[in-house]
Amino acid sequence: MTVPPGAWLGLLGGGQLGRMFCMAAQSLGYKVAVLDPGDDSPAGSVADRHVRADYLDPRGLAELASLCRAATTEFENVPAAALEFLARDARVTPAAASVAIAQDRISEKTFLAGHGFGVAPFAVLRSADDARGADRALVPGIVKSARFGYDGKGQIRVASAADVEAAFAAMRGQPCVLERFVTLACEVSVIVARNERGESSTWPVAENRHRDGILDVSIVPARVAPEIAARARDIACAVANALDYRGVLCVEMFVTANDALLVNEIAPRPHNSGHYTIDACVTSQFEQQARVLADLPLGEAAQHTPAVMVNLLGDIWFDGPSASTPREPDWNAVLAHPRAKLHLYGKAEPRRARKMGHVTCLGDRLADACATARAVKLALGIPGADAL
Ligand code: AMP
Repeated sequence: MTVPPGAWLGLLGGGQLGRMFCMAAQSLGYKVAVLDPGDDSPAGSVADRHVRADYLDPRGLAELASLCRAATTEFENVPAAALEFLARDARVTPAAASVAIAQDRISEKTFLAGHGFGVAPFAVLRSADDARGADRALVPGIVKSARFGYDGKGQIRVASAADVEAAFAAMRGQPCVLERFVTLACEVSVIVARNERGESSTWPVAENRHRDGILDVSIVPARVAPEIAARARDIACAVANALDYRGVLCVEMFVTANDALLVNEIAPRPHNSGHYTIDACVTSQFEQQARVLADLPLGEAAQHTPAVMVNLLGDIWFDGPSASTPREPDWNAVLAHPRAKLHLYGKAEPRRARKMGHVTCLGDRLADACATARAVKLALGIPGADAL
């Protein structure tokens, strides 16, 4: 049943993805209640109501449930029990079961491989014996913790069988996967939205570049062959179907040197690589999240303008690696570009490697968007301008 504009929508999580969801939902006329323990979180500070409570606090959850007929999440590590609690009285998208699969690399990779999706060859390491007996063909590779790994955290590169044992020991017995190192042509992602009726819609493929394990830029449309782009979008839809997914899902993929597409990770929510959709597409990933949640028709996902999204990390608040006192970056240098769209997340404290905002650079041609992104990076002192 449709939840009409004017009604309340609920959100678990207070980060920047939640903030942009609030803004999109409010723009459609909804009121948003955010449940998050933080005091001045990016989403809490723009929400119509901020329920300051732990995700498993029954009083907080009950307050959200009493206001909202539908609720969603902005991060995958939300406890499944919180989503299940809300699902007793409200529509919850995505379902706890979909979120649970994406929370854990072992269940994620096992699910994907079991449904016939290409993934990097891997083995599950649950014990020192598993690490000792791991298939030598998976080295060189990466040992990744099964849970709570993001932005390259919880990962150790391994070059030998002895390294695998040492890496597993360094993970202190947490379950891990050992994944073979794959030679990549590039990394791409596709955001897909799927609704109650199983209808789905994908945005164009984003080409993603990382720095120190954190997304640095997304270039859209990705500079891959049309056949690869079409295949990537088909894979994203197929993953959403296999999960019987409701909501917005990001499917991150590797394009290998021989043009195979391997699914690296799935995120059961809007994604950093989809921020460009706010400025460059008819419907943003956040508006679509609200539409699926409220059971409105899907919006058109077409891209109207080529775009390059540049992430703004806390590092640019500091004058070099040894500085300890932050200062505000020179935003005028960004705002001077009429087709550069600045988004700041309102985080109180800039910290190195912390996502503080992004800039989406638009252009009539992708090369124009790249040129503006280069200028923005140079002006703000973000490395890697030459590579664009
Ligand atoms: P992840 O946290 O799994 O997304 O990994 C972080 C980054 O490490 C990816 O974006 C890739 O650049 C790189 N990476 C992860 N797994 C592999 C792999 N099996 N082969 C090559 N590069 C990888």
